[in-house]
Amino acid sequence: MCGVIGVFGYDNVATEIINGLQTLQHRGQDSAGIVVFNGSFKMHKGSGTVTNVFKHFPLERFAGEIGLGHVRYSTIGSTEAVDAQPIAVNYPYGLAMVHNGNVVNFNELRRKLYEEHHRLLDTSNDVALILYTLATQLEKKDLRNLSVDDIFDSVQKVQEIVQGAYSAITIIANKGFLAFADPYGIRPLVMGRKFTDKGVVYAFASESTTFDFLGYELMRDLKPGEMIFIDNDRHIHSKIGVTKQQAFCVFEYIYFAREDSVIHNRLVASERVRMGKRLAEKFRKTGLEPDIIIDVPNSAYFFASAMAEELGIPYRRGLAKNYHIGRSFITPNQQEREKMVRQKLNPIRDIVCCKKVAVVDDSIVRGTTSKRIVEMLRQAGAKEIYFISASPPVKHPCVYGIDMSVKREILASHYEVDEIRRYLGADAVIYQDLEDLIDLYKDLPICHACFSGQYPTGAAEEALEAIEKEKLESDRV
Ligand code: SF4
Repeated sequence: MCGVIGVFGYDNVATEIINGLQTLQHRGQDSAGIVVFNGSFKMHKGSGTVTNVFKHFPLERFAGEIGLGHVRYSTIGSTEAVDAQPIAVNYPYGLAMVHNGNVVNFNELRRKLYEEHHRLLDTSNDVALILYTLATQLEKKDLRNLSVDDIFDSVQKVQEIVQGAYSAITIIANKGFLAFADPYGIRPLVMGRKFTDKGVVYAFASESTTFDFLGYELMRDLKPGEMIFIDNDRHIHSKIGVTKQQAFCVFEYIYFAREDSVIHNRLVASERVRMGKRLAEKFRKTGLEPDIIIDVPNSAYFFASAMAEELGIPYRRGLAKNYHIGRSFITPNQQEREKMVRQKLNPIRDIVCCKKVAVVDDSIVRGTTSKRIVEMLRQAGAKEIYFISASPPVKHPCVYGIDMSVKREILASHYEVDEIRRYLGADAVIYQDLEDLIDLYKDLPICHACFSGQYPTGAAEEALEAIEKEKLESDRV
């Protein structure tokens, strides 16, 4: 999972991009970077959070009216700075790119680029693959008279060749600003604008929250397969390229996106309330009678409070959170994750002691965090513990840019609900039903591959193998 931002303004855009990246920090903490174009590309990137990477940033050397920023959580590719984004090339055109997502036919395309176009990728990051594929297509055009149609035609070829999830923003040197989405629209990308004395500033970002903070008006989401090009005269051109049945990542609503973001005209917080209410219907049928409902902070708050409201059971905050520690789900290895759960959450004894507690989390993936939470609640004196997952059982790895880990580590890939209950040490485990989730999104076709195994792009063996191999290698380190 990554966060991207691009700004096409008038003044120096670097400050705005860095501030925007702060609002996307939850989407990745492995690396951060910026590129600004002002006759040539100026790039700054490194490992770590935005604050760390930009601590000694030489802002004065990054003047420019067009730029891109990126925060990265590595899925395919290493966590090293060499794989940080943005990346840029100078031939046939100066191009710089950031993307969010994951290419699933990575190895095949890398081989092809080398064999057919003699391009050797010196990075394991898949944005390079998209960038070089675009460069290869642009190279076939009349470079001196590159038209908008030429650009769109090249992007369409990229969409035909590159399989997977990608929401990309690109600077085409001296030509303009380009954003495009994969044919399924798996990852979010929103467009915004701001009126200034000098004219309209345009921006693209992974989430609309960025616009709220930077004072932009949210214009709209990119549609599946859409490409938008803003030329140097600030004219907007758009076209739908290769398009397939939409498959928006439902996990953006469940967990990844900020609750104050609006994606596809839906406020993430409200989506979580809807899911919580649906979950309440299922919970009611179990006949269980908890004394309180608590959440695993923070993403489960809206599920839990909506459930409580629907069931007429008090909602309490039963786990105190240390807000100065990052999200456990997006830390690179298991040991780190377990250590962070212990440091991050602490039961509030008087709230849970001697009570039947229904604890709601957004999902159960490896189960290690959930197990630890159940243990902590028991130690704090909870009488009974019902563990509730707002998402259906996660059974399959995500190949579209979310680190769900490998199949062997995914609990529900191997165990039935009652076995999971015993593993967690809970008195009951209740999941959202996949049918209910799909029913909630009748009017916005979603990707649900991590629950159903139905990968919208079709066969994903290569990507699954790559994830498996990566994981084995990182475990050895
Ligand atoms: S597999 Fe799951 S996490 Fe990955 S894109 Fe689809 S819904 Fe999102």
